[in-house]
Amino acid sequence: MPDQESQEIVLRGIGGSPGICIGKAYLVDREGVDVVQRYAVGAQGLAKEKNRFKTAVQRAKEELHSIIENTPEEFREHGDILETHVVLLKDKMLYSRTIDIIDKEKINAEWALKKAVAGLKQMFQEMTDPYLRERSEDILQVSDRILRNLVGARQVDIRNINKRVILVAHDLSPAETAQIQLERIMGFVTDRGGKASHTSIIARTLAIPAVLGLGEATREIRNDEIIIVDGTEGTVILRPREETLLEYQDRQVQYEEFRMAISRDSHLPAETEDGVRLAVMGNIELPEEVVSVLDHGGEGIGLYRTEFGYLSRSSFPQEEELFDKYKDVVEVMAPRPVTIRTLDINGDKAVTYAAQRPEENPALGLRAIRYCLKRPDIFQTQLRAILRAADHGNVRILLPMISGVDELREARQHIEKAAESLEKDGVAHNSNIAVGVMIEVPSAVIVADFLAEEADFFSIGTNDLIQYSLAIDRGNQEVAHLFSPLHPALLRMLRQVTKAAKSQGIATYMCGEMAADPIHIPILLALELEELSMNPQSIPAVKRMVRSLKAEKCAPFLEEALRLKTARDVMNLLRTAYGEIFAENLYAQGR
Ligand code: PEP
Ligand code: MG
Repeated sequence: MPDQESQEIVLRGIGGSPGICIGKAYLVDREGVDVVQRYAVGAQGLAKEKNRFKTAVQRAKEELHSIIENTPEEFREHGDILETHVVLLKDKMLYSRTIDIIDKEKINAEWALKKAVAGLKQMFQEMTDPYLRERSEDILQVSDRILRNLVGARQVDIRNINKRVILVAHDLSPAETAQIQLERIMGFVTDRGGKASHTSIIARTLAIPAVLGLGEATREIRNDEIIIVDGTEGTVILRPREETLLEYQDRQVQYEEFRMAISRDSHLPAETEDGVRLAVMGNIELPEEVVSVLDHGGEGIGLYRTEFGYLSRSSFPQEEELFDKYKDVVEVMAPRPVTIRTLDINGDKAVTYAAQRPEENPALGLRAIRYCLKRPDIFQTQLRAILRAADHGNVRILLPMISGVDELREARQHIEKAAESLEKDGVAHNSNIAVGVMIEVPSAVIVADFLAEEADFFSIGTNDLIQYSLAIDRGNQEVAHLFSPLHPALLRMLRQVTKAAKSQGIATYMCGEMAADPIHIPILLALELEELSMNPQSIPAVKRMVRSLKAEKCAPFLEEALRLKTARDVMNLLRTAYGEIFAENLYAQGR
């Protein structure tokens, strides 16, 4: 019989970022709770076990105090919740009961805590009082914090990774990804997530192979074992045979050669065979990524996701700090445009110090522009920094999650106010800059004609537009197969938006990931988008695709595509019409 332990296993997931890597797995557990093991503790070890628990509670308390201290005054409410957490650490049902269980059952502290929490969960489930139910959420958060301290805090693990590894996690929030020293990471493997999730976007930006949405990878993969990650195919191979390893080493070399070949002509303009010119720009999350955009032939920054500068810290950044960062990006890119998107926090990019109560539907919650309009102080700080940076180069402002004209007007008033205050303070700035609207909420598509009257440009965010219009959580692997940019509903929306923009004489750009896949280029050319922005890695292949096409042929093609009823039909039409051209470009895109 073959040895079960050493049998090669192939896990299939979603190719989040192309490329191949072979290396040691570094497991990061999400809940802490999953890895809890039960083991007996002898009578002589009980005191030590109880002390371990008490120390973990003490550490949790110190953590909470440090967060409270760093909570700005305006978020007192958040501080108050955390004060409650401090009190709950010593809750009888949690604290005393865990110690009791250690004593009575002579078991380890993690297991005892887990058991105490299970009892509490049961009790809370039976309650109908909403106040008490809310308290149960607090107790669970508190017990998680203790548990993380007992098993070794994961966040500390992530920050301290000091060897080249493949990160294997249940899920990675944008805040966590922002803490990792990414140069140490060879690849990402996660149980959750889809192609449009932020982990996947970051992995692509940094050219790190990633396979997401594997479901059970964290249970199957053992720490430190050698695994193969094929982000192009969306597979992870565990316990590979010798010949599999050799095959993938070869493929890795081929892939690198392909990328180098494609990068060689990345600095040529993206101009179709019949002379239609498109600007191909880069999306960045952090200022350091600007270099990657330039290296890959990017002609500007089409989307600067500024919220990443707010993640993984303990308080909101001040104007001066933001200004320095934006100015760096703007100066390096000048005279090329830098499209600074205002803060798009919450949703899946929650900021711990933002005093947010947990939301039942974060994607539909106090996110992006809604948050900024509700927190004018935070919005003003950012706007002042942007307008000051605009004095050093070519800046545009992009407003996220606009759902209608009123939000655009209100946001514009804030921009004016920021300009007036800078004027009054005698601070150099430039308020004569374009203000654009992200088209990523279905209602914005429907009123695109109204928005076009008052916006200077549109930028279509297909990641959210697909999420909201097709009702598909962009981070949920269970529905990832339905996440389709070629859905007839989306194609119709794209056409509606470009028509509305054209009728008012404003330009439409695209900065969602749809723009990053060369397969979509015939459609995007037919829509006459003027600019496409994407993760820097994808720029060369997209430019090459533009150069291989004739724009005049794309327009009738789109008309035909718009008559088709399913995404699959559209894909088949694309393959029939452009199959040969795609064959040269697709490998880089994970097909
Ligand atoms: C989008 O929604 O398409 C987009 C570009 O913004 P983000 O991915 O940051 O939500
Ligand atoms: Mg978006």
